[in-house]
Amino acid sequence: MHSPEMRARVRALRAQGNNIRSVARTLALPYTTVWHWCVDRPDPVQANSAARCFRCRPDQVGPSDPTAYAYLLGLYLGDGHLVTTDRVPVLRIYCTDTWLNLIESCDAAMRAVLANRVQRIQKQGCVAVQSTGKHWPCLIPQHGPGKKHQRPIILAGWQQEIVTAQPGHFVRGLFHSDGCRVSNRVTVRGREYVYPRYMFVNESADIMGLCQWALDLLGIGWRMNRRNSLSVARREAVAALDRHVGPKS
Ligand SMILES: [Zn+2]
Repeated sequence: MHSPEMRARVRALRAQGNNIRSVARTLALPYTTVWHWCVDRPDPVQANSAARCFRCRPDQVGPSDPTAYAYLLGLYLGDGHLVTTDRVPVLRIYCTDTWLNLIESCDAAMRAVLANRVQRIQKQGCVAVQSTGKHWPCLIPQHGPGKKHQRPIILAGWQQEIVTAQPGHFVRGLFHSDGCRVSNRVTVRGREYVYPRYMFVNESADIMGLCQWALDLLGIGWRMNRRNSLSVARREAVAALDRHVGPKS
């Protein structure tokens, strides 16, 4: 007899700021019934997280900040973990001090995509930036047991659309988590030349393929110098990647 619609009306009246007694009187319900419905609600953080999950919202319009999503997806595929064995899933990204403001950028991307709260945990040589959220697995369906290179990593159609529109931010995420920019110094007839280049190293052939695809979308030349190691070395390609990846610290 107490239909879901009645519960929805209770929630709507509560959301307008009415107290439990007044809601009960308005809907002619027992005070204790309304009280139980209000107290038994999921906790506000989870409820809010469901409302923020762009895959669970009825309209499914995509992320409100596609650049943050593309960047975060790149970070995750590079060196992120989504642990789904705990009570609430945890998205964790290990940030080194190789890149300027990486910890802040990662933190901001998590908040822009889903997180209400982000934790930073100091580890040896890096900081784990992490967020717990029931809906992280909806947004990163590539999660699974074991290491990423031991399972197929295939983007969903909606993820491909986002990366296609934001390849620079995706590549920035990949290089921030699993890449580096090195300077090779060469001395020719007493003059020193510096050749900067980018390296992206990843054991997963699928993730390497995604990196190559995104670089192709940007028109940035690359080559493989080992099975698991991609290099961007041509001068104009390095300059183009500099514009997307941003400065080192
Ligand atoms: Zn969701």
